[in-house]
Amino acid sequence: MKTSELDQKKVLVLGTAKSGIAAATYLVSTGAVVTVNDGGTPSDDDIQTLKRLNVETIFGSHPLSLLDETELIVKNPGIPYQIPLLQEAMKRQIPIWTEVELAYRSTNADWVAITGSNGKTTTTTLVHELLKRGSRTVHLAGNIGFPAVEVAQQAQANDVIVIELSSFQLMGIESFQPNTAAFLNLSPAHLDYHGDVTSYAAAKARIFANMDATGRLVVNADDEEIMRLSETAVAERLTFSRHQSAYAEAKEGSIFVGHKEILPIQELALGGGHNLENVLAALTLVEPFDLPLSEIQDVLRTFGGVAHRTEYVGEFAGRKVYNDSKATNNVATEAALSGFHSSIVWLCGGLERGADLRPLASAMTQVKHVIGLGETGQRFADLAAEQQIASTVVSGMEEAVKTAFAVSQPGDIILLSPASASWDQYKTYEERGEHFIRSVRQIGGTA
Ligand code: ADP
Repeated sequence: MKTSELDQKKVLVLGTAKSGIAAATYLVSTGAVVTVNDGGTPSDDDIQTLKRLNVETIFGSHPLSLLDETELIVKNPGIPYQIPLLQEAMKRQIPIWTEVELAYRSTNADWVAITGSNGKTTTTTLVHELLKRGSRTVHLAGNIGFPAVEVAQQAQANDVIVIELSSFQLMGIESFQPNTAAFLNLSPAHLDYHGDVTSYAAAKARIFANMDATGRLVVNADDEEIMRLSETAVAERLTFSRHQSAYAEAKEGSIFVGHKEILPIQELALGGGHNLENVLAALTLVEPFDLPLSEIQDVLRTFGGVAHRTEYVGEFAGRKVYNDSKATNNVATEAALSGFHSSIVWLCGGLERGADLRPLASAMTQVKHVIGLGETGQRFADLAAEQQIASTVVSGMEEAVKTAFAVSQPGDIILLSPASASWDQYKTYEERGEHFIRSVRQIGGTA
């Protein structure tokens, strides 16, 4: 473990929650002198943990005086660089890392990293499932797993850590160098944080910035921006595409990687065109691990996706119900809407971020009724009206689900795919998806 560089170093951890607490815990174990600062009030659990760690804590604001002693900042990916404390830290040239950089420096394990605007969790989970069938010990880190720094402590040299990385996390890396990485796609999401598309794309491109010629970089041949950005990559660049000829491609109804046939597409458990892209990327990522073909095929035939991502909830009164609560932007929802071939009653809307909804229009050909929820509910109803599609604006999830059953008939699809974040009504998209599923089970049973 490469911890000596942190011994006695004065480190400021910005933000608590899972990643901040994991960072503080690890830093204390290296001998660093740790201060934890949170602009809000941490949870009781976090406060207790920090007490046990015996670190200095400052809650409720970000006083600039904290920087006088600080040699390194480890920040939660969600904290914007615009806050005065970080602006001042940059002026003083204090390094600002995210927990991923810390994790990377603390282990000799190999890293498989996945970024993109959509499909990260699905692809990361699939890669993890595939690698579990191989001979090396594999760990999952990131949103759905444990914080990277915690996972890195458990991993031995020669183990593999699979991690999904958001642009927010990638902004805070310095030496992080995955052995294998994928850049899935790029859509103008998260603009409120990054300010513009260019800096968002540049943040994601950092995933391969440190990779050398021994690295393998997997990119989407259909995404011009990614292809352009990755032209300068030193790593071996391999493409995937479901539309055109590529290193990993869909051809004659089958999946091919490096001209080797893997499986007929219709045998994939994961549905939808966008998931085919995730599969192609995952297979290219795991190719160097020499997994037996029969094991790969078995995973592909059984891996049905991750909760809240076009997740099949079941059939209720003849309607097939899908929970896609994780779809918080247009591209994710477009992918879900265009993956179905029956009439869709579409539940959408949530936090208002000023996104232009018109790009969704072309994906609405199967939609027969729009049910608008939350702050953007009315705007989705207006979009429906423009397309001459019926709509209802509702005030909450139960009313939305009741309406969905009332306006649908057996054979229809009921899909929650909000194309909006959940924070106007829920703490998380998981909470929103679970409320949807509960309402469907209650109301759908009696429809
Ligand atoms: P992320 O972790 O990047 O948010 P997820 O795998 O959790 O991605 O999927 C998020 C949403 O994006 C889901 O609604 C899913 O249907 C959609 N999606 C998944 N993969 C893709 C893809 N390759 N392109 C476009 N949309 C996708």
